[in-house]
Amino acid sequence: MSTVQGRLRIAVQKSGRLAERSLDLVRDAGLRVVKGNNDLLYRIENYPIDLLRVRDDDIPTFVADGVCDLGIVGENVLDEVRNGGPNAEVVMPLGFGRCTLKIATPPGLDYAGPSSLQGLRIATSYPKILRRFLDEAGVDADIVTMRGAVEVAPRLKLAAAICDLVSTGATLEANGLMARETVLDSQAVLIKAPTPPEAGLQHLLDSIVERMAGVVSSQGAKYVMLNAPRAALDRITALLPGAGSPTVMPLSGRDDAVAVHAVCQEAVFWETLEKLKAEGASAILVLPIEKMM
Ligand code: ATP
Ligand code: ZN
Repeated sequence: MSTVQGRLRIAVQKSGRLAERSLDLVRDAGLRVVKGNNDLLYRIENYPIDLLRVRDDDIPTFVADGVCDLGIVGENVLDEVRNGGPNAEVVMPLGFGRCTLKIATPPGLDYAGPSSLQGLRIATSYPKILRRFLDEAGVDADIVTMRGAVEVAPRLKLAAAICDLVSTGATLEANGLMARETVLDSQAVLIKAPTPPEAGLQHLLDSIVERMAGVVSSQGAKYVMLNAPRAALDRITALLPGAGSPTVMPLSGRDDAVAVHAVCQEAVFWETLEKLKAEGASAILVLPIEKMM
């Protein structure tokens, strides 16, 4: 149950890699964010909702304990903080904050798979996830937990290997390290408390979740309209990426062609338009979708 009577609470990262995108999602779901004097709490002006702005590491616990009803956090953090008690539930992946937890070593290390890590020291900020990976691989290694700057551990001879988050691999390269194993693929997820909010707020919570789902599924989606020769209709609809069943309508005064409207769930590239045109499609329009439900 939410601790503030009559208001929902959503936990978001205060500053860092997820902060901006989390606020965007909240705004795109129609919540008007007002920055108050209090840096910890932003109010939502048009609904009884507060945003609690905290370190990402605290978000799973706040949501698991019901201090917050919803939260936005990386799967990596959620997984690391998970414990034996009641846990926050994952509502849906959000499609941003993508990164991978990888084991990396200096290139000089003779590496032939996880067994090469046997007996080594590995530095990480994710000791629980790493321990689980090593256990599953049947490897016994020493884990040294660091809060940050994990990538410098091999150079400082603190560890022979590291297990750290990467998105492009540039940081590993800059530190002369080579990625060896993928431990976890992660992205930001929406999580909710295991206990329902107070009675009057359940409906609001459901509607926020539904709106956020709409925002996530409309990201990158496009509305495509075109005219197609009847004879090429099957080939043309097959070219529309992630379109499901498009709407096909008659064109006034023309028996040989139809209008096709489709929601494409994936990016529509110039190459796709060129292929559509080559099949005889004309008057092709690709429009952004603002909201979807
Ligand atoms: P806080 O001060 O909130 O504890 P932090 O320093 O732990 O912040 P950030 O570096 O802001 O965390 O990263 C937040 C989350 O962003 C990560 O837990 C991860 O889910 C995601 N992320 C995406 N790309 C990367 C990356 N290249 N490196 C690290 N995290 C990334
Ligand atoms: Zn953190």
